[in-house]
Amino acid sequence: MLLLDCPHCGPRDENEFHYGGQAGVPYPAGETTDEEWAAYVFVRDNPKGWFRERWFHVHGCRTWFTVERHTVTHEIRKPG
Ligand SMILES: [Zn+2]
Repeated sequence: MLLLDCPHCGPRDENEFHYGGQAGVPYPAGETTDEEWAAYVFVRDNPKGWFRERWFHVHGCRTWFTVERHTVTHEIRKPG
């Protein structure tokens, strides 16, 4: 179980949150091909190590925020 530090509410249990996926995925600019759009919607990094991700505090302040999580140890830190 993860302990996420909401910037508004403080540390809370993982089950209060909704996972939002990879942070910082750029929206495609201008006209896009089907392949570019599919890559934007479906393709994400899958690193072994630190990963920036979005979380939504659905059972709290209902805001989105970004954290960095180590995908092996599940250590959480604020994004640098
Ligand atoms: Zn919160």
